[in-house]
Amino acid sequence: GTRRWRVERRHDIDAFTPGLLSLYESLNPSEEHKAKQRQLIESLTNSVSKEWPNAQLHLYGSCANSFGNSHSDVDVCLQIDTAAEENIAELLLALAETLRKDDFDNVEAITSARVPIVKIADPGSGLSCDICVNNLFAVANTKLLKDYAQIDERLLQLAFIVKHWAKLRGVNETYRGTLSSYAYVLMCISFLQQREPKILPCLQAMEPTYTLVVDGTECAYFDQVDQLKDFCAENKESIAELLWAFFHYWAFHHDYRNDVISVRMGNTISKQEKNWTTRVGNDRHLICIEDPFETSHDLGRVVDRQTIRVLREEFERAATILQYDDDPCVALFEPYDYES
Ligand code: ATP
Ligand code: MG
Repeated sequence: GTRRWRVERRHDIDAFTPGLLSLYESLNPSEEHKAKQRQLIESLTNSVSKEWPNAQLHLYGSCANSFGNSHSDVDVCLQIDTAAEENIAELLLALAETLRKDDFDNVEAITSARVPIVKIADPGSGLSCDICVNNLFAVANTKLLKDYAQIDERLLQLAFIVKHWAKLRGVNETYRGTLSSYAYVLMCISFLQQREPKILPCLQAMEPTYTLVVDGTECAYFDQVDQLKDFCAENKESIAELLWAFFHYWAFHHDYRNDVISVRMGNTISKQEKNWTTRVGNDRHLICIEDPFETSHDLGRVVDRQTIRVLREEFERAATILQYDDDPCVALFEPYDYES
């Protein structure tokens, strides 16, 4: 169909900023939720350290990257020195056994996933928790996201609202071929890096002050973000303007055929230079989001022919609502009904 190019932003868009800001406030996790998380982490630490006294427990994902809401799970990474012959699957099975003995509920080892984990679902607190072993890339990218979030609050506002939208519209489900929360946060960072004037810098393009070497790959960037508080002072765009522009970018301006978004470069790069132009195995590269540290990893790999259509239709729907609707905050977050 015909796409609406270069629509003028509606003149009254800023009227929706207060509503969006109060939505953002309401999505922040409650003190009660945070206390439950701390409690779960404490009992996990006790249980693990009995069996593996030298293990280190790192939090990653949204309980540590500041993008978590009241529904977010707890993601934990155990750093354990393993003998070379002991594989991760065996370790996870032993961990599951230990946790069952210590009365954790619904303990399940999932050893066949790309990142093998032990899952716990605690019906008492309503929390679920994923535990992986020695996945230090996740620890590094969690810190990167957290550091970006400290530079300008508009990143947290935009990402919370986009994640909320994606959950309600049914496009935040990797097992169904749509995108992870992590992918949406990277899309928000990349978008703010490309505003004129810029709202976020590209931390990986600056002099590194933080380095973590993971499996021979150097994860390095400038992490003294308190020095960057004035970085974004020139750009005065409000959250309503940014949300409008975010959805318009993904609906009408992103070049799906040729471009990869790259937080690492602070810009888009070409599929050609990454060799992401043809399908290899199950990687179709229909929407390309480069992982900042595991650069051969496309977070859009889960998207297929059918779900790319669903995603693009959802971006267009959101853009159109923000442009024309009298009360966009209602229509935008209307839950998608799978039955109809
Ligand atoms: P939510 O609030 O929905 O739980 P989250 O930030 O925890 O959001 P997840 O998608 O659950 O996001 O991912 C948790 C963490 O796992 C991410 O922050 C990231 O560190 C890591 N991660 C998730 N998916 C990938 C992936 N495809 N590649 C690399 N790391 C990933
Ligand atoms: Mg999570």
